[in-house]
Formats: sequence, C-alpha cells, structure tokens
Amino acid sequence: MLKAVEEKNIRPEKEANEVRACARACALPSHVDFSGDDFPVQYSEVEWRKRLTDLQYKVAREQGTEPPFRNLYHDNKALGLYRCVGCLTPLFSSTDKYDSRTGWPSFSKPIDPRTLGEHRDTSYGMVRTEVHCAVCGSHQGHLFPDGPKPSGLRYCINSASLKFEPADSVETILEWVRAWYTPQSAQ
Ligand SMILES: [Zn+2]
Repeated sequence: MLKAVEEKNIRPEKEANEVRACARACALPSHVDFSGDDFPVQYSEVEWRKRLTDLQYKVAREQGTEPPFRNLYHDNKALGLYRCVGCLTPLFSSTDKYDSRTGWPSFSKPIDPRTLGEHRDTSYGMVRTEVHCAVCGSHQGHLFPDGPKPSGLRYCINSASLKFEPADSVETILEWVRAWYTPQSAQ
C-alpha cells in the first residue's frame, strides 16, 4: 500500500496547488477490478438497486464520484459515526474528520483499518489508492499521503458511500462500534 501511495507523487510545492491537485485526483471515478474479491456481505445486483438510491448505487457499486462541495457530508461537523452505506459497517468517526478544503469528507484514519480494502488504481494516467469497504466491497473513495499528522493520511471519501449517525458523545460512538463487533447472540 505504502509503495502505491508514494508512487502517486502528487505533492506540489504550494498548499493551494496541493488542494487543487488532490481535488482533481479525487474527482475522477475509479475503474478497479474487484472480481477476485470475496466479500463477506454479498447481494445480487437487483438487491443492491433496492437497498441504495441511484446516487448511492452509482458511487458505491459503480465506483462513481460525487461533485466536490455538493455532497451531503463534506461540511458536516457534527459528532457521530460514519457507516458504510452498503452494509452499515462502522468505517469512520467524526473525531478523525477534518477540513481538507477539497469538498469531500476527509478523514485522517479509519476506525479499524481491517474494514477498508485498498486497490492500486491506475485509471486516468495516475496511480492512486482506491479504498472500499472490506465487508461488502462498496467503493468509498481514495487514500492520499497528504493528510494531517500523525497519520499523514487523507481518506477522501464520497458522502454517498456513507451513512452518518449523529451521536451525543464520543463514548456513544465507541459503544456503537463495540456493538457492531459483538456477535448478535452475545448482546
Ligand atoms: Zn460495506
């Protein structure tokens, strides 16, 4: 993964250029072959269409991209949990969300790296790291090496791939995450 991230080499000198370059990279849809993956949660195409809105389907299942600044969560500053729109796996916490000024929700890290799969995406003459839900395969966005310290990572995610649940405290978010990891029978 790190090699793929380093290879991207999209670090212009000035910050403004950096934001513009990242915005350009984010805006492109991905064309990654997922055919070799075996995701724990699987639905038929008919079922996916029923579960998701047209926009959610286009982004999460067809690796589309929403326009910057015109998506549900780019400016959402509320405390809460961001789940995968396809299978409700907790992917990101608002406590790791920051304003990258790119117009897409940006996170410095996932709740649990195991929930996100990565693919090298070489479409449009760039090398980018595509990220998707490791549980159901829904496309989430891209990973860039220009995030805030200490991770230095920026998960540039589509709002349409996420479902936000507002929480009253950080403890509540942690509780929801714990609940997701606890088998139904043990709850
Ligand atoms: Zn999922």
